[in-house]
Amino acid sequence: MPGHTDVVVIGAGSSGLNAAHRLRQLGKTVTVIEARGRIGGRAYTDTTTFGFPFDRGCAWLHKADDNPYTPLAKQWGYTLQEHDTALEGLYFRGAEAPDEMRKLSARIEAGLDERIAKAGRKKDVAASTAMKKRSRVDEAVATFHGPMSSAVDLDELSAKDYLTIGTDVPPNFLIKEGYGSLVARFGKDIPVSLNTPARRIRYGGPGVQVETGEGTLTAKACIITSSTGVLAAEKIRFDPPLPPWKEDAVAGLPMGLLAKIPLQFSKPEFRYKAFEDVLRENIGKRDIYFLCWPFHLNLLVGFVGGDFAWELSAAGEAEAVDFGRNAARSVFGSGVDQYFVKGSFTKWASDPWALGAYAAAIPGSAGAREALRRPLAERVFFAGEACAPRWTQTCGGAALSGIETAELVASVVK
Ligand SMILES: Cc1cc2nc3c(=O)[nH]c(=O)nc-3n(C[C@H](O)[C@H](O)[C@H](O)COP(=O)(O)OP(=O)(O)OC[C@H]3O[C@@H](n4cnc5c(N)ncnc54)[C@H](O)[C@@H]3O)c2cc1C
Repeated sequence: MPGHTDVVVIGAGSSGLNAAHRLRQLGKTVTVIEARGRIGGRAYTDTTTFGFPFDRGCAWLHKADDNPYTPLAKQWGYTLQEHDTALEGLYFRGAEAPDEMRKLSARIEAGLDERIAKAGRKKDVAASTAMKKRSRVDEAVATFHGPMSSAVDLDELSAKDYLTIGTDVPPNFLIKEGYGSLVARFGKDIPVSLNTPARRIRYGGPGVQVETGEGTLTAKACIITSSTGVLAAEKIRFDPPLPPWKEDAVAGLPMGLLAKIPLQFSKPEFRYKAFEDVLRENIGKRDIYFLCWPFHLNLLVGFVGGDFAWELSAAGEAEAVDFGRNAARSVFGSGVDQYFVKGSFTKWASDPWALGAYAAAIPGSAGAREALRRPLAERVFFAGEACAPRWTQTCGGAALSGIETAELVASVVK
């Protein structure tokens, strides 16, 4: 690790890697430190559990016509498949909803989307205030807009913040080789000190000093890309301490949770076709969405989100896989059991360097994103999905945040 550089970038996820890349293009010297033993952060493709690529974190390349990763994916020959989440199957507990009800849900979805946006343009209220009715179909639609997309239940989401979120902005593409592998490929030539968490940042005098277990780094400025979960847990200490407005920004952007329950079967695609989407709505918000057989793999990817995802994470992997299998039985029939091979569960809730999936502003805190990205003393800068200038919550938004923050830093640090 070089002892002194222009900029220290803390974190080698999508935003940190893009920040470092842009700073180097702009002629700045950079040290990147990463707490984990790998790069990519919440962009991570696991190739060992199932023997084929499975994205434990981000999977959809959102807003693909304008996403900085799209040209790279094309240039490097990645396999892209356009995919939206229109439902091919809707279930209320064990019973399949009639076709008209499923079509009604699509119409309600468009309406709710507009109403939340309209409410958000006026006031910083909870997104749930835009729900007119509470029929079963309304609840199903709210599940999609809330837990499965924004990673929080709609009553915990600011309608104003909803306008900034990029988690379902089309065109959306899935990547066969994995979004995580694309981010890792982008970052492979950027020198990163792995297993090097930043513990303390001193910024009271000239420049910054970043204390790590491997020694102290000095620089003219630093860019912090840790999630708001990591910041709220005070895994980095600040000297002087963070001002109250910055602490409020972190508190206003708590981490939501989206968790995946991938289930592998020995039988090729059955009941639903590859890339079809099924939602099973349940009593007490124990809802699950299945992405069926992506890329014709023998894999159902279950998703749970919001409060229920936290609950299931606390219960543990065995419980989560059991829940997923039960839900699969109610959608695909009890016969699915004979084909079951193995299941898994993503653990972003307890991952010490994420502590959730992505940040959502609570009602009344829509301004928190702007405050989070506001630098301290023109030396301590913040980037990442929670600070993204647009398409917040997403990997592409995190990349943009890294690039724009790097440009700002380069203009300030001479
Ligand atoms: C289950 C799930 C599904 C998702 N699905 C999608 C999707 O389909 N499409 C999409 O676009 N987005 C999706 N996302 C969101 C997307 O993954 C994130 O928005 C994006 O990857 C965040 O990038 P980042 O650089 O802001 O943060 P991170 O990826 O978290 O990077 C920050 C890095 O900093 C490191 N770090 C933290 N603290 C320290 C420290 N003190 N010292 C050193 N290093 C530190 C961390 O280890 C991490 O590597 C999903 C996320 C999850 C969890």
